[in-house]
Amino acid sequence: MSSGIVFEQVSKSFPVREERGARNGRTRKGGSADFAAVRDVSLEIAAGEFLAVVGPSGCGKSTLLDLLGGLAEPTSGRVLVDGKPVRGPGLDRGVVFQQYALLPWRTAQANVEFGLEAKRVPRRERRERAREYLSLVGLDGFADRYPHELSGGMKQRVAIARSLAFDPGVLLMDEPFAALDAQTRESLQEELLRIWQRTGKTVVFITHGIDEAVYLGERVAVLTARPGRVKEIVTVDLPGRGDADGDVRSSPEFAHHRHEIWSLLRDESAARPGAPAARTESEAVHV
Ligand code: ADP
Ligand code: MG
Repeated sequence: MSSGIVFEQVSKSFPVREERGARNGRTRKGGSADFAAVRDVSLEIAAGEFLAVVGPSGCGKSTLLDLLGGLAEPTSGRVLVDGKPVRGPGLDRGVVFQQYALLPWRTAQANVEFGLEAKRVPRRERRERAREYLSLVGLDGFADRYPHELSGGMKQRVAIARSLAFDPGVLLMDEPFAALDAQTRESLQEELLRIWQRTGKTVVFITHGIDEAVYLGERVAVLTARPGRVKEIVTVDLPGRGDADGDVRSSPEFAHHRHEIWSLLRDESAARPGAPAARTESEAVHV
């Protein structure tokens, strides 16, 4: 099961006290102003697609994901999942955050069962499904461990299993691998591609890593600096992506797309008044 997603001219502003908001937004009586985090985002994501979203820090990536997850409402515009406006969080969308967000008093197994309890899945089926998804994320034999007994990478695997277990059409991921070491990150990226291929979910994956975006996304939406708008959507054609034995990251196609996205982000940081042009890929996203 997978679902299509549409952002229709979506904007999101936050009311802030005047000192912070005055420069960027309209000042209101009473000393508050609107601070635009995301402006006029239109985007269509096909059912079953893997879309990566990359943009400078603070450009509104998490805000976009919160709108999709139903944790925030757009100030204007609409967000549709399967043609229906998002009205709040729901089991049709699974969310994985950078912080593992596991319940510390529950084992890996019981954490995965959590969403199934909300869906009133009978006990025995819950057990079986949790085992199945722990196995899918490579955690056979770790069902009875508590979060503090698991490494960062394993915790994130549990979080992914928990989101997948209630079979949402959409998997929303907000920099889920950012806190992991490089090697663990790469192996989880590979695993995620494998899981995506097996389950056919629609995946929206937020990252500030250019390599990560190129490696994972069938398309990469490059956002502008705040307020975030879609600057360009890059279609990434990577033969052999996700092959465990291939070295796709060293291919000329990979280098080409990495440079393409880096240039878009560099222009973005250079376009901001007072901001020096980024010289390295890491600077391009940390403006
Ligand atoms: P990103 O995830 O791309 O780093 P965010 O979506 O978290 O960016 O934030 C975009 C902008 O909106 C930032 O400047 C942030 O400070 C601001 N922002 C986010 N959430 C709120 C909020 N609840 N209230 C006020 N400002 C917010
Ligand atoms: Mg963020």
